[in-house]
Amino acid sequence: MTKATVVGSGPNGLAAAVTLARAGVDVTVLEAADHPGGGTRSGELTLPGLVHDHCSGIHPLAVDTAFSRSVDLAAHGLRWAWPEVQYAHPLDDGGGAAVRQDVDTTASRLGADAATWRAVFGPLSRNFAEVTEDFLRPMLHVPVHPLKLAHFGAFAGLPASAVGRLWHTPEARALFSGTAAHAFRPFRTLASSAIGVALGTAAHTFGWPAAVGGSAAISSAMVAALESFGGRVETGVQVQSLAELSDSEIVMLDTSPRAAAQIAGEALHPSVARALTRYRHGPGAFVTHFAVDGGVPWQHTDSRHAGTVHVGGSFGEIAAAEAQVHRGVMPHRPFILVAQQSVADTGRTRDGIQPVDAYAHVPAGYTGDATEAIIAQIERFAPGFRDRVVGQSVRSVRDVEEHNANYIDGDIITGANSLRQLLFRPRIALDPYRTGTPGIYLCSAATPPGAGAHGMCGYNAARSALAELGVAE
Ligand SMILES: Cc1cc2nc3c(=O)[nH]c(=O)nc-3n(C[C@H](O)[C@H](O)[C@H](O)COP(=O)(O)OP(=O)(O)OC[C@H]3O[C@@H](n4cnc5c(N)ncnc54)[C@H](O)[C@@H]3O)c2cc1C
Repeated sequence: MTKATVVGSGPNGLAAAVTLARAGVDVTVLEAADHPGGGTRSGELTLPGLVHDHCSGIHPLAVDTAFSRSVDLAAHGLRWAWPEVQYAHPLDDGGGAAVRQDVDTTASRLGADAATWRAVFGPLSRNFAEVTEDFLRPMLHVPVHPLKLAHFGAFAGLPASAVGRLWHTPEARALFSGTAAHAFRPFRTLASSAIGVALGTAAHTFGWPAAVGGSAAISSAMVAALESFGGRVETGVQVQSLAELSDSEIVMLDTSPRAAAQIAGEALHPSVARALTRYRHGPGAFVTHFAVDGGVPWQHTDSRHAGTVHVGGSFGEIAAAEAQVHRGVMPHRPFILVAQQSVADTGRTRDGIQPVDAYAHVPAGYTGDATEAIIAQIERFAPGFRDRVVGQSVRSVRDVEEHNANYIDGDIITGANSLRQLLFRPRIALDPYRTGTPGIYLCSAATPPGAGAHGMCGYNAARSALAELGVAE
């Protein structure tokens, strides 16, 4: 029986493990942390009984993928909960804008931009399920849906600043800026709209759901699926070198490219090791978790019903903050992502207290404390927020990296979304999961299709390994 070791139990490591085990490979996952799950761990971070997501909380791209269709995670307990409002964006006048899953309902509230919202996201969302067949894999391939992919690419290839000009109202422009900022890229750079267009479209196609009971339900379901195929996870094991894994024909690394180069050492061709070491990381995230009595008192009513709230003001303000972060400057008013999972997954509220997770975009390796900046930004659109906080925990940029070695300098998306790394990550290669050394593969979010708790990097990497080693799926 072919033996495989997967290093790291993030969603990609686990998706790779499940895919290999389902094909009859004997799989062991080794995880440095005490709990499996990587970016999909949950826990009582503020008050007893109040479940927060340590990292990933909202999962638009995990709902319907080739991986999710390949294994019945629902049978292992995974359920999704959708909020009424997928994402919202409060503005300074007490107003704001909101995206519901239905394009027409969303557009009808965008005044002069209604027709443009409908014209952009109507066709994109109708095609998106098919586009993801091309988008959630390496860019170098013969497209399955070339015309639909080209239509998507016509928006995704543009700078976010250009796509933002399609709309004229502050509300519609703000909505797009909130999704575009997920890329952690300056808005004027090529293809900086790609992530925003994908996430904006996904809101209308799949919605932006939370996992019922916490994101750990995603990793628990994957671990259970793995075990059902005979695989296993060992925690508290930090892998340093290939020598520790000598009995495995397949080594699957759910690590940063830099760590992969260190672990694989001389087994890699020097040019591959160099390319992995030169892989570029993006800005950082400063992470906070709040227990909020009665929930966040957003002035903008729709924001109270949203699973995700983008906080940062106008399109121009967010574009400026992202540009600063990219230059290594901490903005006075950073972009904040607020996840209110309990709006959708109501069982997570305890005695009226809601778990709220929020993180700020900060420069890579930022050594300061952004807690007050985060609270002030939320308070700006939700006066009285500060007084409702009854519990809080903070994870600095250094803590984020200590919590998960893949998040170098706080880079929670495991690699800068530059045009080059959007197209070719972690290096220019026909098959980005292979390292040129048969048997050693990279499967983390540093490979296509990149960040997110969708598991598609791991699924693709496992299929590449099975193909290279001639193991039938
Ligand atoms: C604060 C935050 C918020 C986020 N929000 C969202 C969101 O809402 N939606 C979304 O889709 N995504 C979100 N993400 C991103 C998402 O969590 C990641 O993109 C995803 O988890 C990447 O999965 P992965 O399997 O590649 O790696 P990870 O989930 O990072 O897991 C890697 C695992 O490998 C382990 N590991 C690393 N090196 C070794 C070693 N040498 N030996 C043993 N184990 C090792 C680590 O301990 C870790 O458990 C967020 C991330 C963070 C941090």
